[in-house]
Amino acid sequence: MLSIRDVAVSFGGVAALGGVDLDVETGRVVGLVGPNGSGKSTLLNVIAGVIVPDRGTAVLDGHPLPFGRPEGVAARGIARTFQIPRLARRLTVAQNVIAGGRDQPGESLAALLFRPGAVRAAERQVTARAFEVMRRLGLDHLADHPAGGLSGGQQKLLSMGMALMADPVLMLLDEPAAGVNPVLIEQQVRFIRALASEGRGVLIIEHNMEMVSNICDHVVVLDGGKVIARGTPDEIRRDRAVMRSYLGE
Ligand code: ADP
Ligand code: MG
Repeated sequence: MLSIRDVAVSFGGVAALGGVDLDVETGRVVGLVGPNGSGKSTLLNVIAGVIVPDRGTAVLDGHPLPFGRPEGVAARGIARTFQIPRLARRLTVAQNVIAGGRDQPGESLAALLFRPGAVRAAERQVTARAFEVMRRLGLDHLADHPAGGLSGGQQKLLSMGMALMADPVLMLLDEPAAGVNPVLIEQQVRFIRALASEGRGVLIIEHNMEMVSNICDHVVVLDGGKVIARGTPDEIRRDRAVMRSYLGE
């Protein structure tokens, strides 16, 4: 579904990515791991249309992704979460989830003026979807609470829900488990596996190797902006280069 080839990025002459290949298939969870500064977030930002690479290609379902245009990438069905959740803290959980959906007819003035019935019906549908998403995340009992009052782990779940509202074909998750308690990590794991079983692709950056093992079909290891290993979680755990990179042997 997604094919990244030879993507290179440098910041002020310093190479953050030195020619990376990566594939994500439909219904697969791919883990992107590696030490701090190895280029993981940079690669995610290239895919998400935030950073324009110096060279390389990204193709989704046979068509090139529009580098440097986050809205264009989102319109192709790619949704993302951030390392630090971006929420409207004073709005409720439900309002945040609803705001995550794209193409809301209520946002078009013409539709509001000329097709108010259609807008109301669409709004009811979006609200129903939002509650379904909150139920899946175990956040439905917090629907009317301000998002800013949630724990860090709940905010990460909420940001995944916001991303799901766009009904993406591919989800990009940047360190969803960092700083999250084990119970909520379990909830994330179930949610992410369910995304894949619905046929979505997931690319997840994660430090927690246990979570990576539980969740990923395939793992790509970056170090110094290059892929040093790829394979199943088991293969990765046994890889010499990965041990050196992680343990500094
Ligand atoms: P990771 O997510 O694996 O920790 P990053 O992709 O954030 O790594 O960073 C890769 C390298 O690029 C690091 O050396 C980092 O300092 C550098 N870098 C990342 N973003 C920027 C930026 N906006 N400007 C300059 N350097 C950056
Ligand atoms: Mg990062």
